[in-house]
Amino acid sequence: MKLFLASSNPHKAEEFSELFTGSGLIVEAAPEKLEVVEDGTTFNQNSFLKAKAYFDKFKNPTIADDSGLVVEAFPDQLGVHSARFAPECETYAEKCTKLISMLDGYSKEKRAAYFVCYICIYINEDEIYNFEGRVKGHIGDEMKGDHGFGYDPIFIPEGKNSTLAELPEWKMENSHRAKASKMVVDFFKEYIANSK
Ligand code: IMP
Repeated sequence: MKLFLASSNPHKAEEFSELFTGSGLIVEAAPEKLEVVEDGTTFNQNSFLKAKAYFDKFKNPTIADDSGLVVEAFPDQLGVHSARFAPECETYAEKCTKLISMLDGYSKEKRAAYFVCYICIYINEDEIYNFEGRVKGHIGDEMKGDHGFGYDPIFIPEGKNSTLAELPEWKMENSHRAKASKMVVDFFKEYIANSK
């Protein structure tokens, strides 16, 4: 089944195609980028809003994702607003530094955080499937590592002493996106087999 990707990020189509190997799903960039207002209050709502907007326009099964970092000490500041956190900071390095300073003096327990990814697959108005993946951890007190992007240099997964930016191979297998994608693969292997 061919899915259009509801995103302006060209790397995501490739990334999902790779993650979905063996599922029977092929992910392609949509023919045109749409401006979708992501005004949902949850990741699930935002991934649905994007998938629906692209489906309504192109009438082709669509995939959308929404992800972010939830920092339990500041539940309203990141989460669905992760990309817009600290708008005065121009780079993610600055955003990371700001978050570290906001958590200054907090114990490891109080620095608890998790990455979450929602994937919405909108096949038609009657068939809409949602998948969620999470990776738990805490925010470190300094930036470490050169891999990854966004908040990776300050996120230390549970059971590790290194940040995601220092663990690229581990991240490929265990990230919030990888976990949600594995659920998609398992679900669609069966879905496509049953629809033959
Ligand atoms: P998006 O849903 O992919 O646009 O991501 C929303 C926000 O979450 C952005 O600020 C990203 O930097 C952050 N984010 C999502 N996934 C990751 C990740 O795997 N590592 C670091 N930051 C992430």
